[in-house]
Amino acid sequence: MVNDQMVNDKMVNIIHLSKTFINPDGSSLTVLKDVNCTIDKGEVISIIGPSGTGKSTLLRAINMLEPPTSGEIIVNGENITAPGYPLDKLRRKMGMVFQSFNLFEHMTVLENITYAPTRLLKMPETQAKEEAMELLKKVGMAQKADVYPSSLSGGQKQRVAIARSLAMHPDVILFDEPTSALDPTMVGEVLSVIRQLAKSGLTMLIVTHEMRFARDVSTRIFFMNEGIIYEDGTPEQIFEHPVHSATKAFVNRIQKLVYEIDSDDFDYLQIHTGLNQFCLKYNITEKAELAYSLIKEILFTHMPSFRPLTLRLTHTELSGVTALDFMVEGLNESPLTDTARASLRQQVKELIEEPTTRGFRIKLIV
Ligand code: ADP
Ligand code: MG
Repeated sequence: MVNDQMVNDKMVNIIHLSKTFINPDGSSLTVLKDVNCTIDKGEVISIIGPSGTGKSTLLRAINMLEPPTSGEIIVNGENITAPGYPLDKLRRKMGMVFQSFNLFEHMTVLENITYAPTRLLKMPETQAKEEAMELLKKVGMAQKADVYPSSLSGGQKQRVAIARSLAMHPDVILFDEPTSALDPTMVGEVLSVIRQLAKSGLTMLIVTHEMRFARDVSTRIFFMNEGIIYEDGTPEQIFEHPVHSATKAFVNRIQKLVYEIDSDDFDYLQIHTGLNQFCLKYNITEKAELAYSLIKEILFTHMPSFRPLTLRLTHTELSGVTALDFMVEGLNESPLTDTARASLRQQVKELIEEPTTRGFRIKLIV
């Protein structure tokens, strides 16, 4: 028996958790090797890391959707991995929000939310409905209480899914990449609901690829790699001063969009669309039009004659630095005139001109 004093501020305690999958052909795959951590009440933990490193498996093991092979999970003083631990109690302890929403499609929004409290908690129907309406207000979805999920956008579905998990009054909510199935325009509305929950003192574990969100919202970051919590620390420690090189490489990774332009009748509409999508995805829509007009200006005005080139847009999520690179082949000096240079300098943060092994590079920091 764990005494109350000991578990006071400890909400989740994971001890030597491991998970091995046995494949149908008899081979096995150990996805979680030895996960250990303690999470305090009210903490918001973001779990980041390369794909395939067991982040989803960890959440599913914590929630007993994928029972661990060995180890223990103590939630608010109770060992939920103990044999026969009751499901209704477990669901009250842990809520889960999935990437793909998993709403019940044949139930209205309101019914989706009242279903578990009335069945599992035996909450009276009227109370469940009242609470559900409160929760829907909280996530900005009260006006959609009576519609079916099929009429909702992805962002709206995910907000309903969050309300549904809150309806069980869980001690902890687990989020598995809650925004990665969403159209980029809808990421913001879901993240803002999660930010609001974080402020309310709810304990949360969030698997996410949104680095800036993770940095802003979390009390601690777990970097998962190779089936263990490879490094953990405050957002500042993980993002600014990571100890391990794998952590450093991961948090500083650069997103790229590349076009090879090999004739002067290239498809500039395709580039425009690609730029817009890229900028939406990485939350830099304000840079899209500038980047596009710089591309047109350089290609149509500043290049004396057509030359094959590689156009590259890079964005470092964490630092927010966006660069536009024009790698022009077979040129050993800058094609820019002083007038061109002056025009570009007015529009960008930095202009770099440098020879490369295969030609010449114009780099614009936008
Ligand atoms: P992440 O969420 O970090 O991308 P996952 O936890 O989804 O990683 O998966 C980690 C590894 O476990 C992957 O190699 C995946 O194929 C494997 N895996 C996940 N679920 C199962 C399963 N039910 N059976 C067998 N292998 C699985
Ligand atoms: Mg995953």
